[in-house]
Amino acid sequence: MKEIILVKYGEMVLKGLNKRTFEDMLTKNIRRRLKSLGHFQLTSAQSTTYITPLNEDVDLEEVVERVGKIFGIAALCRACVCEKDFGDITEKAVEYLGDILEMAKTFKVNAKRSDKAFPMKSPEICAELGGILLEKFPNLTVDVNNPEITVTVEVRDTNAYVHAENIKGAGGLPVGTSGKALLLLSGGIDSPVAGYMMAKRGVHISAIHYVSPPYTSDRALLKVETLCQKLTDYCGSIAFFCVPFTEIQEAIKDNCPEEYFTIIMRRLMMEIAQKIAEKDNCLALITGESVGQVASQTMAAMTCTDAVCRIPVLRPCVGMDKTEIIEISRKIDTFETSIEPYEDCCTVFTPRHPKVKPKLAEIEKAQARFDFEPLIQKAVEGTTMKVFEYSK
Ligand code: ATP
Ligand code: MG
Repeated sequence: MKEIILVKYGEMVLKGLNKRTFEDMLTKNIRRRLKSLGHFQLTSAQSTTYITPLNEDVDLEEVVERVGKIFGIAALCRACVCEKDFGDITEKAVEYLGDILEMAKTFKVNAKRSDKAFPMKSPEICAELGGILLEKFPNLTVDVNNPEITVTVEVRDTNAYVHAENIKGAGGLPVGTSGKALLLLSGGIDSPVAGYMMAKRGVHISAIHYVSPPYTSDRALLKVETLCQKLTDYCGSIAFFCVPFTEIQEAIKDNCPEEYFTIIMRRLMMEIAQKIAEKDNCLALITGESVGQVASQTMAAMTCTDAVCRIPVLRPCVGMDKTEIIEISRKIDTFETSIEPYEDCCTVFTPRHPKVKPKLAEIEKAQARFDFEPLIQKAVEGTTMKVFEYSK
């Protein structure tokens, strides 16, 4: 029996003329993820991609696991390839799904006939095959409303396919189809989730992280790199920029009023991020901010940080509760790393009483007391880059 994987598109089926671009990107992303598992033929037709293993001993469980994390896919399933012949379809259904049908009590047959030249219509396929399965498996009864097993027959272009349940895909759009954006990645819980959420909308992610040695340690940086590596499961390859931020933070501490430390620091982070974004062709910045979470995440504070931004700042967590963010971080397996207790540069010189409602004019005045431009330039020049690839 020949088994393949059927991949059903998500939202991209709604795309008009440029659907092909989305399809090509999805195929490319699937190919990269499966490279280390063997050789596969990928073909696309009728809003479906067919993944056909070309080696004998492919681990299809692992294929499903990996493809389940690729954005742009609404559903996927393992399916048995049949001739477009009702006899063959019946034989394969009995053999391929025999084990689960033997265990079940209720089932129904669902038929989809996209090849209208096939001589039997869908209701006929359901009735005939249903009858045969009832005879073969006396333990079964039909339940059209809430069956344990749905035996699906799809009659398509070149073949027919038999499978049981669809598995839910990762949804969203293929990574790379919405351009690139730069994620401000800290070691916390929120920013990895923010990166995941924008990748889901088809955005190719680069990441930027600010370090302040000796106030922050090598171990803290390693933690962020681990998060970056974990994100590649969903985001594909990520260029990771590491910015030396110590001198800037010390200059803020020495020259600006304490209550404004955090806001000014965030404005300078944004300045640097934009310079890197420009070099790396990123069209927006992404942060893990959520309204009201901390003093620097009030709308007044966001006004002050956004005032230095010339490109959009995307904040996909902005309206989410911490518990909702944590739920996603567990799902994408970043939570356990995020809660490791290492310091972040943001927590180095935190003011005792940060301004909750800072006024932009006051912040600008406070920041103007010192010329940060040469230090910004130096930080950008000292920034290092390494690429994290999907590594499995
Ligand atoms: P997170 O859980 O993502 O760290 P947070 O709730 O701790 O967020 P802040 O520390 O105020 O919030 O940071 C807000 C956002 O600023 C983060 O979500 C992240 O996008 C960015 N950020 C903070 N620290 C850094 C850093 N050292 N390097 C890069 N980005 C950072
Ligand atoms: Mg943080």
